[in-house]
Amino acid sequence: MTPRISAAILLPTALALGAVVVLWIQHMVRDGMLRRRPRRNAIYRCESCGHVYEDARNVPLATCRRCGILNEAVRR
Ligand SMILES: [Zn+2]
Repeated sequence: MTPRISAAILLPTALALGAVVVLWIQHMVRDGMLRRRPRRNAIYRCESCGHVYEDARNVPLATCRRCGILNEAVRR
């Protein structure tokens, strides 16, 4: 096998493997995000101004950043 032929076989193989690794990493990152997000951030909707916001502390009540009133979590 000449070096040129082995490169013609190895390069596409390496690229295909690289693509699989990249897709796998993307999948892992997206999966991890989807799983962690609902647990970490509670979502609130302000009863006064309708502003929708998140709070990483996951407390039952959080202050609206727009008008400052306390709102209950819509989703925890
Ligand atoms: Zn508000």
